[in-house]
Amino acid sequence: MARGKQKEQARDKAQKSAEARKGGKSQLAARDAGLKIMCPVCKNPTSHYKVLKEHMEAKHPKEPVPPESSFQ
Ligand SMILES: [Zn+2]
Repeated sequence: MARGKQKEQARDKAQKSAEARKGGKSQLAARDAGLKIMCPVCKNPTSHYKVLKEHMEAKHPKEPVPPESSFQ
């Protein structure tokens, strides 16, 4: 399951420095492995579709939750 790991690490590193520059308030979320899913509304990264769904329901109840297939 090491597919794309290097790329992911590079992205993770880039994301971390980007977060650090703007205050790092979503560092906790960015620390999660395999951030493939991002909230379409606030761009908050989540590690699972399930988490995104919960996030959408909690933070953006009026926004439609994108289908899981759009993140594959
Ligand atoms: Zn959001």
